[in-house]
Amino acid sequence: MSVLVNSEANSRRIAMVESCFGSSGQPLGVQGRVLVGEGVLTKMCRKKPKPRQFFLFNDILVYGNIVINKKKYNKQHIIPLEEVKLESLEDDGQYRNGWLIRTASKSFAVYAATPTEKQEWTAHINKCIEDLLRKSGKKAAEEHAAVWVPDGEAPFCMHCKKTQFTLINRRHHCRKCGAVVCGPCSNKRFLLPNQSSKPLRVCLHCYDTLITAKHHNSNNDSIKERERAGNADTSGEDDSDDDDENTKGPPESHDLPKFYGDTERSEEQH
Ligand SMILES: [Zn+2]
Ligand SMILES: [Zn+2]
Repeated sequence: MSVLVNSEANSRRIAMVESCFGSSGQPLGVQGRVLVGEGVLTKMCRKKPKPRQFFLFNDILVYGNIVINKKKYNKQHIIPLEEVKLESLEDDGQYRNGWLIRTASKSFAVYAATPTEKQEWTAHINKCIEDLLRKSGKKAAEEHAAVWVPDGEAPFCMHCKKTQFTLINRRHHCRKCGAVVCGPCSNKRFLLPNQSSKPLRVCLHCYDTLITAKHHNSNNDSIKERERAGNADTSGEDDSDDDDENTKGPPESHDLPKFYGDTERSEEQH
């Protein structure tokens, strides 16, 4: 990988990514950073799968919405790779060549167009994670945020199994287990420090589990937690996610992902 670190081509590529995100993105040109690969993956969002442009750097994974293919992206998300763990998904109907990207604060599924692309992406991402952990001496992250069950998979509340969702009976997501639940079944909040500094919506089942676990650790805290949870609002305004409806459909033709040759070099070393 060191070959690419100071290369002009690498700097040019990173500058290009930056300019595609424009003012909606963070500066990405950091000393030692290498753009390892890029391409379109289908990301499972709350309502349905959507194409997203992904950029794999040697230390972060960046993705965004495609405004104009290869020209303009927005809604930039940056995930430090050190926290990432991948988990392969079995093919399931239309959902093929997928895997989970899991971190402590957020977990989601992505799908590649072909098994080969899946293999390439996951191998490159895992290699970057390994290199980072080896360098820092840190251990792989163990706690990961739940993957949200897509809205469409839950016509009924997954907790009470009674409430049918409608425009008025809105869906909510438990931040602990990812289940889709109704308002009354998620009227408690619990502090999940990996995800937010504020207490988050959890389902009644997770609330009980969390409270019991907490009670074991410290009596006083759990009482405070219960008091706070009692005041939880049920507006569900916190249920926003990264979905947006103003992006035009997927790119007209599928481009293969590009990976920028650090592989020859790492193969030499083995
Ligand atoms: Zn319910
Ligand atoms: Zn739950």
